[in-house]
Amino acid sequence: MSKVVDRTRLLEQYRRERQRFADTHPRSVALAARAAEHLVAGVPNSWMTRWGSKIPLFAAEAHGSRLMDVDGIEYVDFAMGDTGAFSGHALPPIAEAIARQAARAITTVLPSEDSIYVGQELARRFGLPLWQLTLSASDANRFVLRLLRAATKRPKILVFDGCYHGSVDEALASLDENGQVVARSSSLAPAVSPALTTKVVQWNDVAALEQALRPGDVACILTEPLLTNMGIAYPEPGFHDAMRRLCDQTDTLLVMDETHTTASGPGGCTALWGLKPDVITIGKPVGGGVPIGAYGMTRAVADRVIDAIRDWGVDVSGIGGTLTGNALSVAAMRAALEHSLRAEDFAISDPMAVEFKAQTAEVIRRWELPWSVEIIGSRCEYLFGPQPRNGAEGRLGVDDELHDYFNLFAMNCGVLLAPFANLVHFSSSHRPSDVDLHTKVFEATIHSLFA
Ligand code: PMP
Repeated sequence: MSKVVDRTRLLEQYRRERQRFADTHPRSVALAARAAEHLVAGVPNSWMTRWGSKIPLFAAEAHGSRLMDVDGIEYVDFAMGDTGAFSGHALPPIAEAIARQAARAITTVLPSEDSIYVGQELARRFGLPLWQLTLSASDANRFVLRLLRAATKRPKILVFDGCYHGSVDEALASLDENGQVVARSSSLAPAVSPALTTKVVQWNDVAALEQALRPGDVACILTEPLLTNMGIAYPEPGFHDAMRRLCDQTDTLLVMDETHTTASGPGGCTALWGLKPDVITIGKPVGGGVPIGAYGMTRAVADRVIDAIRDWGVDVSGIGGTLTGNALSVAAMRAALEHSLRAEDFAISDPMAVEFKAQTAEVIRRWELPWSVEIIGSRCEYLFGPQPRNGAEGRLGVDDELHDYFNLFAMNCGVLLAPFANLVHFSSSHRPSDVDLHTKVFEATIHSLFA
């Protein structure tokens, strides 16, 4: 057995799996051909081309942790809408709340009573008293950066190398091999160089952070509590304390993006680890899959931004949108917070993630592969490289060819992994036997390449 991937063998196997997919999914193949007539790239959102199958699977319906495609094949879904549905598909109390609200009013540019519950519940979970709603996590991050630049009158923001915070120009930045800020390699036609708007440092590098904040020109740090977009990179002991201390010393605000780390518990890592951010942003699963996001802030920050969000010109200020805070999304969020993402849900899903890590690590060890697996709450990811401490190390474990093959092999075995990473979500609807199924498929994929 060789630990080096034989690329010829990999491509040959991948070709075989693509043929297997085409043979067993005639209806998806036919629909993809029709879709290509009037949809750019044959899909409504180009992200949907990123699955290993390349020909998109057309979903018929999904309930809990199971998804049925148009060819009548059932899947154990670990992708869960790439986090958006990670608390479970079409959970009945959430679906009913959405239907009830849709029959009453969908959008009015007026507040609905549900928004009061939502504000209270987010404050209770995350410990920040004041909230605003958005339509996505990207929106939340975009609006927060704008508000905090206005509040602090500082031009720059700071992010960590390997981060992703959504379609937010300033955050699509990374470090090149000389330590210079450049646009992420995938960032499409940035309006200006991110070096003008953004400082980037490596995660866990206190000295670099201190140096970047010292001039006092950074409005805020935008970060996840741990990095989840280049594998999973935990903070080293003391890193969060250092970040908070440096922010206080330089009057820089600290924004915690809990979009993915909502998977760590009802109040994200902020509640779990007792973090003290000035602002929190969230999105994806908090509407049970319906588009919604939110940002919360301390009273001190709110005092600094409140005029900006009440001003006469707020409708054209670059904050909010016509459908932001619409009654349907807010009803969905209320129902999602009431009926999912609760401590009792994580008590079911988290042990499956722990078992997933143990089984996956054991397979990696047995096959003597230089790969790694990590979890945060009910979110799991394996990398084709060692466990990273920061984004630069995480990047070394990304391998698109291998990802596509693992993703497609699993799909052909009735298992859906997330399209962009080797990502597995456990919801309270998953079953412990799903872990064993994944391990079997994971090992079979490895066997097909290395045995
Ligand atoms: N924050 C983080 C940490 C993310 O990873 C993402 C998207 N993966 C976003 C925000 C943006 O979410 P959305 O695409 O739903 O706006």
